[in-house]
Amino acid sequence: MYEKIDEQFASDNYSQICPEVLNKIIELNSDNAQAYGNDYYTKYAADKLRELFETDCQIFFVFNGTAANSLSLAALCQSYHSIICHELAHIETDECGAPEFFSNGSKLLLAHGKHAKLTPEDIEHLATKRDDIHYPKPKVVSLTQSTEVGTIYTIDEIKKIREVADKHKLHIHMDGARFANALVSLDVTPAELTWKAGVDVLCFSGTKNGMAMGEVVIFFNHDLAEDFAYRCKQAGQLASKMKFISAQWIALLENDLWKKNAKHANAMAQYFKNSLKEFNEIKLKFPVQSNSVFIEAPEYVIEYLKEKDWIFYSFIGAGGARFVFSWNSSTARIDQLINDIKEAFKKKQEL
Ligand SMILES: *Cc1c(COP(=O)(O)O)cnc(C)c1O
Repeated sequence: MYEKIDEQFASDNYSQICPEVLNKIIELNSDNAQAYGNDYYTKYAADKLRELFETDCQIFFVFNGTAANSLSLAALCQSYHSIICHELAHIETDECGAPEFFSNGSKLLLAHGKHAKLTPEDIEHLATKRDDIHYPKPKVVSLTQSTEVGTIYTIDEIKKIREVADKHKLHIHMDGARFANALVSLDVTPAELTWKAGVDVLCFSGTKNGMAMGEVVIFFNHDLAEDFAYRCKQAGQLASKMKFISAQWIALLENDLWKKNAKHANAMAQYFKNSLKEFNEIKLKFPVQSNSVFIEAPEYVIEYLKEKDWIFYSFIGAGGARFVFSWNSSTARIDQLINDIKEAFKKKQEL
């Protein structure tokens, strides 16, 4: 009746709910609660997040990352504004135009920097390219942390981006689908990596960290959050039984489980990267700084892995493959992957 698949590294979204999160849902299921986020647990989760970020921020829970990104960007923009982001940004490549749709037409302006990162120079260029009324006025810089290729912005880099943003009166939005992975990799505090460095709004993912579903939009700049609750409701993102999203956040925040999950995922990426060293013909496409590894391998290796039922994305150039590790990725399965790569080279030699 059910089709099972082996553990895969196609995405951190392939993983299960982590047990503490699932148990918290079961635990909090034992009594009733007010609906639409008016419950005790939602207030508690929001307070815990404020404590974590060491500031009085505005907090909204939504179902997924596309909603978190596009609704928060819409809150920062008028329809005639534009958003500066990298060409590989999820908001550009993977949200089906939702940021443009929810903002009623704000245009994305694309930069092409190395390692999927925006630089102050790129932002300066895009923000000043035009200043006439025929071009949408730049209003937001959107950074992905960790980036879509697994690299990371340092605090210093974000501060430099803030300087350019200030110069041109731009807000800073952070797509934190893998914020936890960046944070533990840099070993800094959530406050240091966000509002203290100049981030105005953060979309912080729980899903990729071990939840079933649920993201939180955190406005450090209160003015930008005005009427945001209405925006969420209109977009179908106000959970009626919000308690069960909040419950999951409570579990992740307790005992720093979210950090433990992110550390494990990052460590598995390093384990895979180190295991690849024995293959001269495999190159890393990007520095491994969080929980993903992008490789460039001969086409026959990629084909062989597919034959062996490995599922992975190869959207960044021919011969490329992406492997993403999650809170419960196992070294045993990574060893199997390495073994299959070894087999692929062996088979080629025998031909
Ligand atoms: C996964 C991801 C998201 C969220 O995607 P949803 O499928 O909408 O939850 C957003 N940004 C990045 C960079 C992601 O990897």
